[in-house]
Formats: sequence, C-alpha cells, structure tokens
Amino acid sequence: MAFLYLDCEHCNGYGYFMCTSCEECTSCNGRGYHICTQCTAGRVDCPECGASGSIVVQRPFLRLFMRPVRESCRRCSVGKVPCTVCQNPLQQIRCERCKGERYEATCERCSGSRKISCPSCQGRGKFKSDWLKSLPSLSRDRLVFEHEKFRSQRTNLELKLLRLHHGYDRDETAISGCQTEIKEVDKILRLIESRLSRLS
Ligand SMILES: [Zn+2]
Ligand SMILES: [Zn+2]
Ligand SMILES: [Zn+2]
Ligand SMILES: [Zn+2]
Ligand SMILES: [Zn+2]
Repeated sequence: MAFLYLDCEHCNGYGYFMCTSCEECTSCNGRGYHICTQCTAGRVDCPECGASGSIVVQRPFLRLFMRPVRESCRRCSVGKVPCTVCQNPLQQIRCERCKGERYEATCERCSGSRKISCPSCQGRGKFKSDWLKSLPSLSRDRLVFEHEKFRSQRTNLELKLLRLHHGYDRDETAISGCQTEIKEVDKILRLIESRLSRLS
C-alpha cells in the first residue's frame, strides 16, 4: 500500500500541540461557566400561581352568580417554570470573561488559540511520502507502469471490499479501512494521470 502522506511523528499527525502556558480564566477558575444561583436545576417557582400549580378564578354558576373555582395554572404544570437566567438543568451560565473557553485569551505563546503549531511539520501534521516526492522525476514509461500497478491494486481492493460486505461477520472497521485505501489509490491514480497529461 502506497501512501501519499505520512503522519508527523512529532505531533502524531495533529499539526499542533496544546499550549501549556495558558492561564486558567480567573473569573470561572477554568470551568468555563458559572453556576446559576437563581434556580434549582434550571427551574424556578411559577410567579403566576405562586408555585402551587393552580389558581382561583371566578366562573359563572348556573348563570346566576360568579363563584370561585380552582383551575390548573396555564403558565406552568407543576408550579415550576424554566429559569430565564441559565435556561438549563445543569444551572450553567457561560463565563463572559473567557467566553466558555476556560483559559485567558492573553497567553503570549498562543495568543489565546490554545494551539502551538508543530515546528517539525509546520502545522501540516503530515509529510509527503517518498513515493509522492519521487513523482515529478518519474519518466513517462515509469508513470504508465505505476498507473497499471495501482489500477490492479484498486481492483484487488474492490474484490476485498466485496468479500467484506458479504462476509458472515461484517467487520465495519475493515470495511471502512478498505474504503479509505480505495480513496487513497484513486487519489494516486489521478495524480499519475495529471502528470501523464502534462508529459504528453
Ligand atoms: Zn508535526
Ligand atoms: Zn497559551
Ligand atoms: Zn403556575
Ligand atoms: Zn438558573
Ligand atoms: Zn471564564
């Protein structure tokens, strides 16, 4: 299997490291949120019915006079309504100072981005493989040969995929791995083709 790119071993292919110089937000102590003190689990007493869940209204009785009737509150069901301050059961209010990012945005090393670009791969996370590096120097005949080689590799992968699809124990990991390989081979084939078209 030929690969176009290889993961940078320095940063494991991420292209960056998490900054270790960042200071935790002083407002939320690095939590990213504050706890709402206005409610219980995101609910407050209904102001309409005084948390009782029902209200007394005057209703006509036998068309003769009005009498008080207890009805369930139309604004709530059980005497509680959602808290308008935090609006969530976890009682979390996003920290305004760090915008929920948990760290101060003043870090000199990363300017608050939290990421330090990998110096080994210049933040790309990967390197060109030897095969990709050699591509511009390949002769026309060699390109045709490589094209044939990858075409047959693609056919083999398609057969393998077919077998995986019809196997008794469908192995999803193997299937997606095979699909990734096919995509990689397709990219290689397109590269060779564009190289060939420039040579002719
Ligand atoms: Zn790297
Ligand atoms: Zn930092
Ligand atoms: Zn109510
Ligand atoms: Zn609340
Ligand atoms: Zn904060």
